Amino acid sequence: MSNTVLVTGGAGYIGSHAVLALLQNGKNVVVLDNLSNSLRAALDHVENICGKRPVFVEGDIRDSALLDQVFSEHAIEAVFHFAGLKAVGESVREPEKYYDNNVAGTLTLLKTMNQHGVFNFVFSSSATVYGCPSEMPISEETKVERPTNPYGRTKLIIEDMLRDFSDADERWNIALLRYFNPIGAHESGLLGEHPQGIPNNLLPYISQVAIGTLKELKVFGNDHPTPDGTGIRDYIHVVDLVEGHLKALDFICEHKGLHTWNLGTGTGYSVIEIIDSFEQVTGQNIPYSFTERRAGDVAESWSNPAKAKVEMNWVASRTLEDMIRDTWRWQSNYPAGYASTPTPTH
Ligand code: NAD
Ligand code: UDP
Repeated sequence: MSNTVLVTGGAGYIGSHAVLALLQNGKNVVVLDNLSNSLRAALDHVENICGKRPVFVEGDIRDSALLDQVFSEHAIEAVFHFAGLKAVGESVREPEKYYDNNVAGTLTLLKTMNQHGVFNFVFSSSATVYGCPSEMPISEETKVERPTNPYGRTKLIIEDMLRDFSDADERWNIALLRYFNPIGAHESGLLGEHPQGIPNNLLPYISQVAIGTLKELKVFGNDHPTPDGTGIRDYIHVVDLVEGHLKALDFICEHKGLHTWNLGTGTGYSVIEIIDSFEQVTGQNIPYSFTERRAGDVAESWSNPAKAKVEMNWVASRTLEDMIRDTWRWQSNYPAGYASTPTPTH
């Protein structure tokens, strides 16, 4: 078997951390990314950390001729599929863009893999497939409900598509990884999240308030049925998350078929708890005020990650303090993400 992994979306937030981990584990890496939500500079930073660079192909997963060329030129063993659009609000306004990019793009990728006899596939799914979850914590046995927005529905459709492919052809080895809330940054402070425009997610938003780019945080609702009224999520360090991908790849190479795992810590924190921890860890003040609930938000979402522990021997080992400290290190080194002039202070 070859030793090369194709990482779609490898210049993005989670993808770039996965590229680093793969290179550090002796894999060859080919990145395919259209740079629609990332900068090539992320891969320079990967090289600064580990002294190795992936092959980079700028292009789109919907371009079947380009995919054909990539699979012809490289002896690809497996695909980590991160490429996709992920902004929930945008997916409500422009669903066609999401179905085309995420669903049609993934189908094009799978067809090309099939043509080239590559069947190991690790997919970035999301806890959003549980919709309004019927129980807490959420295990893989928890009923999958209709996701509350088009972005989530693209993830569920892709999961169904992969299940059908796996049922029809036993050569497919597939990991469906349902992420809870990835945050944090590589501990070097050189790799992190680079949101374009005003961030949608909590941690990037708080970091930009802390650095002074944004004035105050709006907390979406203090009337949720939770102890302090604010939303509860299971935040997971991005480096723990990508370690889960490497374990999943090892697992599917040994155990055929399709496997589903939650990747979370098993602990939920409210928005207020996150603000308090951020202030404590960084010493920064986070001004905030309450506003109405965000449409489609569930009150709480946290995982039971036991299946990944039992089957893959994977656990998320980094604490909330680690996540916040690493986020802040990256944010203060690179206030404008990869577009910043580097001014490392840590
Ligand atoms: P990201 O936007 O930072 O990375 C996605 C990358 O894919 C970007 O570099 C973008 O340029 C690229 N891309 C998008 N469409 C493409 C296309 N058609 N062809 C080629 N490249 C394309 O996002 P991320 O946070 O790193 O997320 C990675 C994956 O994980 C996504 O599929 C996302 O839906 C999923 N996910 C993310 C979260 C999260 O909170 N970050 C949670 C659950 C699931
Ligand atoms: N949140 C908030 N203000 C923001 C962004 C998020 O209060 O500006 C809340 C949101 O309502 C949720 C939690 O923070 O309860 C996590 O939101 P995020 O968008 O990061 O993750 P998701 O809701 O997609 O799980």
